[in-house]
Amino acid sequence: MNSKKIRASFVIVAAGKAERFGGEKLTFEIFGKPLLSYMLDSLQKIDEIEELIVVTRADMISFIRKLLHEYKKPWRVVKGGVTRADSVFEGLRVSRGDVVLIHDGARPVLSRDLVKRILEALTLYPAVVPALPVTDTLRESLGEKILGEMVNRENLLRIQTPQGFKRDILLLAHEKVGKDRGKFTDDSTLVEEALGVKVHWILGDVKNIKITHREDIKLLESLLIQDLRTGFGFDRHPLVPERPLVIGGVKIPFHKGALGHSDGDVVIHALVDAILGATGLGNIGLIFPDTDPMYKDRESVYFLKETIRRTKERGFSVLSADVTVLLEEPKISNFTDKMRGVISPILEIDPDRLSIKPKRGEGFESVGKGLAIEAFAVVTLIKGV
Ligand code: MG
Repeated sequence: MNSKKIRASFVIVAAGKAERFGGEKLTFEIFGKPLLSYMLDSLQKIDEIEELIVVTRADMISFIRKLLHEYKKPWRVVKGGVTRADSVFEGLRVSRGDVVLIHDGARPVLSRDLVKRILEALTLYPAVVPALPVTDTLRESLGEKILGEMVNRENLLRIQTPQGFKRDILLLAHEKVGKDRGKFTDDSTLVEEALGVKVHWILGDVKNIKITHREDIKLLESLLIQDLRTGFGFDRHPLVPERPLVIGGVKIPFHKGALGHSDGDVVIHALVDAILGATGLGNIGLIFPDTDPMYKDRESVYFLKETIRRTKERGFSVLSADVTVLLEEPKISNFTDKMRGVISPILEIDPDRLSIKPKRGEGFESVGKGLAIEAFAVVTLIKGV
């Protein structure tokens, strides 16, 4: 490898109309997250990439800018052209790296290993593409669903992206081809035809699928999930006079409140225990001991934020949460939307992935007699790629 550090730009081409998909592909949500976010999250973790350029349709620019809001590397969103190659050219023009990687916006599973291998190969070759040998038997079709001749698959390859190039070479090829660039569906063929540059190939990644049809989503979902877990939590506090009543992060006017070391928020405590349970991180008493003066009268949202921070460190994120809260008085159904508004941003999910359902004790036991408040929570956590 060269000792001099190569500066790499990553260009995502996402300006197509997704006609075969039947609807907008980039905004399409998988596990509550837009398709494009999976790729952006992966890129964030690939140190070798220095800048990101997203080429998209004019009507998608603000959506993508919003997705990139907290992105920590230099990024730009530019308007695409009429054809895919026109869009590549628009992205290429504003790129500043020594090398550029051109990637399909519809290939969300991007591995650091693949990017690294392409960049390594680019220290030796001017143009590098990932490719997969064909393993299925190949036959021609004679129409009417009749098989024709067998095709020799031995020298056939399926070409993927990202395709890597020395920037000046790809730019020169695009300029040389000019308006004719539209007939090229990928950049390796364009470089080859325009400049006669030999394109080197390395082994691609079977997970690096291109989302084309709606049915591809099922396969993508299975590729994105590394681990799926469920956690259960329970909490109970006595209700006593002269304590504030805080449920789900919302203060509720009432003459009694939950007795406890913190604010006694049963909804959040049950949620914290469910999340800690699913991730194997312990339980609320272990992580935030009530013997520690630091947690005295502390707002419970702090516990939840800290729990989510630790959960994310382990690579997990919340997919959904369901809470039942048992309380005789007061009636809290008018407050549950507000609670969801407080908690869902902390869990980093849409409010419709969190439910909080109040129930009464119907006169039975400590809840029914107004002596206690309880909550049960179930959460689903996902570890993605
Ligand atoms: Mg508690």
